[in-house]
Amino acid sequence: MTFRQRHLLGIEPLAPDEITTILDLAESYVALNRQPMKHARALEGLTQINMFFENSTRTQASFEIAGKRLGADVMNMAMQASSIKKGETLIDTALTLNAMHPDLLVVRHPNSGAVNLLAEKVNAAVLNAGDGRHEHPTQALLDALTIRRAKGRLHRLTIAICGDIAHSRVARSNLLLLGKMENRVRLVGPTTLMPAKVADLGVEVYDDMREGLEGADVVMMLRLQKERMDGGFIPSEREYYHRWGLDAEKLSHAKDDAIVMHPGPMNRGVEIDGTIADDINRSVIQEQVEMGVAVRMAAMDLLARNLRAEAEPGGVMV
Ligand code: ASP
Repeated sequence: MTFRQRHLLGIEPLAPDEITTILDLAESYVALNRQPMKHARALEGLTQINMFFENSTRTQASFEIAGKRLGADVMNMAMQASSIKKGETLIDTALTLNAMHPDLLVVRHPNSGAVNLLAEKVNAAVLNAGDGRHEHPTQALLDALTIRRAKGRLHRLTIAICGDIAHSRVARSNLLLLGKMENRVRLVGPTTLMPAKVADLGVEVYDDMREGLEGADVVMMLRLQKERMDGGFIPSEREYYHRWGLDAEKLSHAKDDAIVMHPGPMNRGVEIDGTIADDINRSVIQEQVEMGVAVRMAAMDLLARNLRAEAEPGGVMV
């Protein structure tokens, strides 16, 4: 096993063998999670605090379940009701929590880079649960596990990431991970929703959905992130669906066995047709949610092993 990280702040610092280590360990947690008795002891005695400064359904629930299944004491901070509202800075809040000796801090924040900043100020291992447009590493890892299980490998696949790329931390983390594992990544969507330096990313870019999906093994749809838009990025939702929404006809351009993914929450009828999302022969959206719990268990387990090694004289990281 190789995992040299102190924190999980993004995919960027991870080496391919560290990604494989997380996914392999997550496989054992998939099996555990399918048993009636789901308890393990990897985080026993440790305290996990979840700090979500932005709304979350899947990510927060799965981090909480993951921590509890591994035996941690898990606390969810209600950030809407916390002293942040009274003007306390992120760093003051972090230092206050730090004094309570948490071991794992799971943080989601609307500002890119806020989680990295926080990690510099605390002793706990910090897991980034999504920061602005920057990274969402556990999402990319759960997507990778879903792809590996569906396709039997995680290399030399053609993966089309479609839609609102510019505002998406999911797209960014996936692009990094899938590139490190030597896949062919295509970005598909309107030019107004492509990142500014898209030409430097080393990927193929399409604004025509049918061309972008031609021969793809994986079609990854993204949510249209209206909350991060401050201008007229799309003509109208109806027009957007017409040109970039995934329906059966557009999907027919991908390989016959192509899988359809979406990180959630979905805007049905905007970026994806509801019947495609619910088609159990094509859509792996529910598997993504299942893999999310297992991947978060694996990530926290590995970070906890490194915390323990650090605490022992002469300890070594896994
Ligand atoms: N749930 C994902 C995120 O937090 C995707 C999304 O919100 O569209 O980034």
